[in-house]
Amino acid sequence: MSRPGKVWLVGAGPGDPGLLTRKAARAIANCDVLVYDYLASEAIVDMAPASCEKIYVGKKADQHTMPQDQITALIVRLGLEGKRVVRLKGGDVFVFARGGEEATELHDAGVPFEIIPGLTSAITAPAYAGIPITHRDHNTSFTIATGHENPLKGYSSLDFEKLANPSQTLVFLMAMGSLAGIVAKLREHGMPGDMPVAIVREGTKPTQETLVATLETIVAEVERTHFKAPAIVVIGHVVAERESIRWFDNGPLFGKRVLVTRPREQTQEFVEALYEAGAQPVVAPTIAIGPPDDVAAALAVTSAFASYAWIVFTSQNGVQAAFAQLAARGADARAFGTAKIAAVGPKTAASLAAHGIVADFVPATFTADDVATGLLARSKAGDRVLFFGAQEMRQGPAEALRANDRRVDVVAGYKTTAVTDAAIAERARETDVWTFASASAVESFAANVPDAVALAHGKTIACIGSVTAAAATALGLHVDVVPHDFTVAGLLDALLDPVVA
Ligand code: SAH
Repeated sequence: MSRPGKVWLVGAGPGDPGLLTRKAARAIANCDVLVYDYLASEAIVDMAPASCEKIYVGKKADQHTMPQDQITALIVRLGLEGKRVVRLKGGDVFVFARGGEEATELHDAGVPFEIIPGLTSAITAPAYAGIPITHRDHNTSFTIATGHENPLKGYSSLDFEKLANPSQTLVFLMAMGSLAGIVAKLREHGMPGDMPVAIVREGTKPTQETLVATLETIVAEVERTHFKAPAIVVIGHVVAERESIRWFDNGPLFGKRVLVTRPREQTQEFVEALYEAGAQPVVAPTIAIGPPDDVAAALAVTSAFASYAWIVFTSQNGVQAAFAQLAARGADARAFGTAKIAAVGPKTAASLAAHGIVADFVPATFTADDVATGLLARSKAGDRVLFFGAQEMRQGPAEALRANDRRVDVVAGYKTTAVTDAAIAERARETDVWTFASASAVESFAANVPDAVALAHGKTIACIGSVTAAAATALGLHVDVVPHDFTVAGLLDALLDPVVA
């Protein structure tokens, strides 16, 4: 018999991947099988390793993909087979999520398990709508109730007499189908008709929507706006606080779909920042990073680093490629000897710093002029200068130095290649903002999207710097946003500037 596996009952939080706990992220990254339902965010499901088997078990009211007893049987069986199983649930594991039943069955079957609680939507969805679950001015308690009781019970165990108390906050989950009945009961038990009510749909996601009304008007408002589940119903005076506390769904990027065209391995930081701004990142890499055509030359130059007076790294990728090659032959930063190091851009400098190297020169701007002038001022005729970066790096600075009698080598540490993918045009169509972090990304984008110029109409185009912007303009694209600071963080700040977006 195989050794028993283990099942982690994991709360995924309400949707924003940033609200996933560190423990949950670790369990997901290490599992063999991921069993998830419709409330789990795609970004979180994507954190599972490529080798992980992903099983979708659905679970929307009335359209269960797999009945609960089969889900329980499935995780018990997988556990007994020796698998490391993550059973991922929206929100918290034990808040109307049947985690208790699953844990009991695992216990009875002798399958080891752990519970990793998650942030419940009952509190976080209102918080993202600017509604505090408690507030000293309004309430001394809150109740979280289900609007969808076990239908087999045949009676309601909700005590509406107590629920109608106006000095508490009421939160109903799964209540869109029974809203009219709940409202009628509360009114019957004396809750005033002008009591504020909010319904928050898809809370914490870029698709979050909030409907505010009163106990008297809410049912008609839901009908009028066709407001749909999954949603949280909040009833109480705290709802009025949204007027001043609203913060998430009124930012300039909220709900915007933002196309990210960077190479796949470089999207994470930007994607997370976009989520935090309430935007919906749509990843469609138009370029990919790989080894240069002349791998031997790149390898050889890493053995000769110490023979240069200056080594110029033109990008973060160049730094990574250099250190990967040094590491491959068991060497480290000492290979630079007394060579001085220049870093084009703060990110490049930061990458060097991560390897313990403080750049001797970081040009004020990335223009060819600034790079060349700065290096000329810091070197003398006859000095050997190495440019190490992308195969397609700009030759301007190297030529300017050669013209002034420096002995210059230009060596490619890596190559960016254009990606051809039908998904790029599709995603370009469905997004509101296009972002480009290099001229090659724009050029490859245009090759994939033949009608880019027409399609760009009404969309915001953001380019990381002047060179990228020039490439976009040359292709006939309008450029709306170029940050002062030519970095991804700068690009996001510029997009968040309400004047622009
Ligand atoms: N365990 C979950 C709740 C599961 S019951 C939790 O702790 O959040 C499913 C109900 O949760 C839905 O019908 C809806 O009422 C609510 N819900 C879950 N995620 C939500 C979200 N992001 N926004 C609004 N409501 C949500």
